[in-house]
Amino acid sequence: MRVQIALGKDGGQQGCTGHGRCAVMAGDVYRLDDNGYNIDRGGVIEVPPGLEESARLGVRVCPEGAITLAK
Ligand code: SF4
Repeated sequence: MRVQIALGKDGGQQGCTGHGRCAVMAGDVYRLDDNGYNIDRGGVIEVPPGLEESARLGVRVCPEGAITLAK
């Protein structure tokens, strides 16, 4: 399973704006940089086995819809 984190406005597209909810609710999958943005924004996270539900929780709680399931 993989999830994609959209880059955000400063990267020229809608996406992560640094709310931090993903890391608060599912810190075993999502981490933040020093500015509160998802550290993997603009990229893809390979979700380790057993953390799929945490990954899906992050998709649900992101207020920007920046996290999506990737193929
Ligand atoms: S919850 Fe969404 S907007 Fe907030 S840091 Fe995570 S990916 Fe970015």
